[in-house]
Amino acid sequence: MLGLMMDRQLTITSIMEHADRYHPDTEIVSVTNDTPRHRYTYAEAFGRTRRLANALIDYGIGAGERVATLAWNDYRHFELYYAIAGIGAVTHTVNPRLFPDQISYIINHAEDRLVFVDPLILPVLEKISDDLSGVEAFIVLTDEENMPDTDLRNAQSYEGFISRHADRIDWPELDEKTACCLCYTSGTTGNPKGVLYHHRSMVLHTLIGISPDGLNLSVRDVVMPVVPMFHVNAWGLAYGAPAVGTKLVFPGPKMGDGATLQALIEEEEVTYSAGVPTVWLHLLKYLAESGKEVSTLKRVIIGGSACPRSIMEELEDSYGVYVNHAWGMTEMSPLGTVNTLKPGMLELPREEQYAVRMKQGRPLYGVEMKIVDDDGNELPRDGQATGLLKVRGPFICSEYYREDTPSDVHDDDGWFSTGDVGSIDAEGYLQITDRSKDVIKSGGEWISSIDLENAAVGHPDIAEAAVIGVPHPRWGERPLLILVRKEGGDAGRQEILDWLKDRVAKWWVPDDVVYVDEIPHTATGKIQKTELRKRFKDYVI
Ligand code: AMP
Repeated sequence: MLGLMMDRQLTITSIMEHADRYHPDTEIVSVTNDTPRHRYTYAEAFGRTRRLANALIDYGIGAGERVATLAWNDYRHFELYYAIAGIGAVTHTVNPRLFPDQISYIINHAEDRLVFVDPLILPVLEKISDDLSGVEAFIVLTDEENMPDTDLRNAQSYEGFISRHADRIDWPELDEKTACCLCYTSGTTGNPKGVLYHHRSMVLHTLIGISPDGLNLSVRDVVMPVVPMFHVNAWGLAYGAPAVGTKLVFPGPKMGDGATLQALIEEEEVTYSAGVPTVWLHLLKYLAESGKEVSTLKRVIIGGSACPRSIMEELEDSYGVYVNHAWGMTEMSPLGTVNTLKPGMLELPREEQYAVRMKQGRPLYGVEMKIVDDDGNELPRDGQATGLLKVRGPFICSEYYREDTPSDVHDDDGWFSTGDVGSIDAEGYLQITDRSKDVIKSGGEWISSIDLENAAVGHPDIAEAAVIGVPHPRWGERPLLILVRKEGGDAGRQEILDWLKDRVAKWWVPDDVVYVDEIPHTATGKIQKTELRKRFKDYVI
């Protein structure tokens, strides 16, 4: 027997309409290339979103067509998120930090007809525009006055594009399984793969994301997403904030600039933020140098890569900012786990609390997870067994967009292989120890490069650490520690090895330490281990 409840579709449009009606006065503050501090309300944002939607329809963008954005976190990107999806088209967010040939591949593969681009990102597109033959026009995210000179095809300003259009629209009634946004993962091998979200998955992800043990958003918060809107939907914050009426503060192109972040936090009274570990390193460095405060900031979510304990401790002990560690992936919309302490754990001694809090956290409702051995057998949830992590759920990608070759990560039984390796303890806390392709196997046993890296960056002289496995005649592989020192730091090889001896199992201690000026990163800020392995392929321990 079917239930007798209303059949209202779960759409992004409904989030926008809710915010427009119940939170019209909530502010959105942005840093952009043309305005140091742009400020308006949700009501104004959605008025302009309707103009943009009309402009897109007038241009001829139809249901299901992909429209690309190469943009920072700001109010115009926010409008694009809602207008494109609202008319039944697909917001294709493109990461401007990818290699140019990856950007062309992605835009061509998605068959984007229109590309919305930030003025600061124009040079990237100008270099590859000949390869983008399917793109009919480029809309530059600025006004007429600040429109840069460019020879990009049919370039025009965003403000010009929307100006003639009405701010009234009857949004189409969309089926909740209509595609709404597209984001390509940038693996280090092979071509990027598209993850095509639908309205339903995005709304479910939003509802679960805003819950107390998820991102925990409130109408009384002021949220500054430092995680980019061009990659995995800013972890859902651009949907979660309007759903509850939270004020949004967008740092625009200044996401990596500690001074801008600190000023935005203090002046806009930001209570809550989210970003990858390196963002917090920039902010902490600036705070230490300037002696300034982040007095309103209460909480940050750190994920995207493992959060080093040193960042967590400095934020908390010096600035009173509580850190929740989180884990997720593009394929998961992206939230998978968030680390919150269970009842009674707050009373645990500090070291025991940190042992729990350094883990990636417990799955949110809607995310099923298990770890398996090489033969696919499920391993015990005892915090000891380590295996390949698989996930399943209504906001997890079921297949990649227009991938001709079957992917080896989607199993026949409906589980998705994350490519991450880790353990799950009896309380349900996930601990990621490695990417499967980065694991170091020494004498048949796994050594966690993430644990080693975390321990190494805990040393006061070390800014960043990477561990890779290098061939060893006796053990098969042994860990090599690659370090970048902080300015003025002079810790040598032996000092670091002694530091590690007190913090990790003896047989994990790397056989050697190499100092470099810089560790290579991917376009999403993760350490590029393939590059390091290439560089150190002949290294003899
Ligand atoms: P992406 O799809 O680009 O967001 O990357 C997802 C991958 O980032 C995951 O599969 C993990 O390997 C890594 N990752 C994300 N969050 C964490 C975390 N908290 N700790 C360790 N690795 C993480």
